[in-house]
Amino acid sequence: MSVTEMTRAVRGSNSATQQMMLEAAAATRLLESEGILDYSGHVSTRIPERDAFVIQIGSTSRAEVTPESMLVVDYDGKVLEGDGQPPSELPIHLEILRARPDVQSVLHSHMELAIAFTMMEGVKLLPMRARASRWKSGIPTDPDPSHIKLPEQGRALARTLGPHHAVLMRAHGLCLVAESLRALFVDAVHFKENATAQMQALQAGAKPLPLTEAEIAQIEKMEMRDWHIKKLWNYYVRKALDEEVLPQPWKDALVPSREMLTRE
Ligand SMILES: [Zn+2]
Repeated sequence: MSVTEMTRAVRGSNSATQQMMLEAAAATRLLESEGILDYSGHVSTRIPERDAFVIQIGSTSRAEVTPESMLVVDYDGKVLEGDGQPPSELPIHLEILRARPDVQSVLHSHMELAIAFTMMEGVKLLPMRARASRWKSGIPTDPDPSHIKLPEQGRALARTLGPHHAVLMRAHGLCLVAESLRALFVDAVHFKENATAQMQALQAGAKPLPLTEAEIAQIEKMEMRDWHIKKLWNYYVRKALDEEVLPQPWKDALVPSREMLTRE
């Protein structure tokens, strides 16, 4: 079945909505394949020029989501398109997307490594690896360890996140935010790498040496974020197509063109 045929099943959706449904399905499968999502966790992404966003049906396996597993939800939490219920922690997405107009996409994950950094006295998750300069402003921890099912919990979480790009949730998980779904996926890969690096330093019994301000300034001088996101998205999508994590008919809509993969 072609992408067009698949997405045609989602009646009433315009092409931007269809593309975001496909991208959200692909990003969810990639995140599950990389051990960032498992039986739970979710991504949301705004639909361009629509007062709504895409999020998956809460009960669908993260390894098997398709564009048809996606819902279109408005910023009051009302399901506009799709047949199913959003995740019970929908207020995470609603309140962060409301509070942060600069953010296009939100990830919520129960990544074990990240949770460990909310459970160690005197230890904070810090930017260790070069790509973690993304989180130079800080990675705050929200104190609420329960599931975020109420609007006031979501608002409190959004306040803890503040202007940052990541927030840990005490004994529960994390949220990442980014300017696009593809950027969010790449950030999630680097977030896990960075937490792994710090944990390895701690497990070696050493005092972790996070990036200094001067080192971060030097890294940012050399940074090509847009290019880097295209390159990694291309790598992970192609790998997932080869390994049948992503269905072949999705290829054309997901793999960047040769022009897009030319560095400026
Ligand atoms: Zn959760």
